[in-house]
Amino acid sequence: MSQPLIVPIGEKVKLADFDPSYKGKYKRKRDVQGKLRKTINKIIELQELLYSDSNNSLLIVLQAMDAGGKDGTIKHVMGAVNPQGCDVKNFKAPSVEEAAHDFLWRYHFAAPRKGKIVIFNRSYYEDVLVVRVHNLVQKTVWSKRYNQINNFEKMLVENGTTILKFYLHISKDEQKKRFEDRLNRTNKHWKFSDADLRERQYWDQYMEAFEVVLSKCNTKVAPWHIVPANNKWYRDLVIGKAIVKALEGLDMKYPEPERDFSDIEIKD
Ligand code: ATP
Ligand code: MG
Repeated sequence: MSQPLIVPIGEKVKLADFDPSYKGKYKRKRDVQGKLRKTINKIIELQELLYSDSNNSLLIVLQAMDAGGKDGTIKHVMGAVNPQGCDVKNFKAPSVEEAAHDFLWRYHFAAPRKGKIVIFNRSYYEDVLVVRVHNLVQKTVWSKRYNQINNFEKMLVENGTTILKFYLHISKDEQKKRFEDRLNRTNKHWKFSDADLRERQYWDQYMEAFEVVLSKCNTKVAPWHIVPANNKWYRDLVIGKAIVKALEGLDMKYPEPERDFSDIEIKD
């Protein structure tokens, strides 16, 4: 059975209905390698056009449970893009300075300028995920944020930013496997933290918090992509293709030359 990547606006998402191991018509990594390479080459080409045209920008929002594959996605899908045109912003718990502002302040500041791609590795959605799960602020405060996020995204879109939001959907078993892998390989030890195990105990609460986000903040201007992410190769292909589709949908062209070049002769 096929599984939707984007659900209809207003529909209540139940994550149990989404298979994290879904891989469409493909069976194994080998089946998509050529496609993925072509997709990445297309992104490289479109990024250059985005930069030279400089009328639009692209914000990519990545959210997932720990070990969900945010870092891997950035490395594999965006790793070959010209670093001059693409920034990655990682968001952790807010600093004292950041916490003294409204919760969207630091994200707005990091949003892409025209011509650029910015990837948010975690985002303002943490302010209704970890914050909700651990009651880091009162419910009266976080419950207003869904609407505030929708309005913020609408404002960005109206100002020329395309927003692509990806929830990398892994199973609890897959998370266990990935943590074990980090423990078993010395070159992966640095990726493991006790905090990951602490948060794993709240798996169900996180799923619930994600379901609310994926339902309430799934808007026409900035819909959520629910990406089956147990298979890294399928995840990369799905995200790569969504990026190509979004960039191809923009009205972009290389700028006209400032003058007629036909009389220019480059002397030896
Ligand atoms: P990795 O583990 O792959 O290096 P990461 O994104 O998990 O990357 P960590 O430093 O492990 O980075 O975790 C960042 C932590 O910051 C997460 O536990 C996250 O929930 C927390 N965090 C992010 N945004 C907020 C926020 N707005 N309020 C409170 N905590 C937040
Ligand atoms: Mg972490």
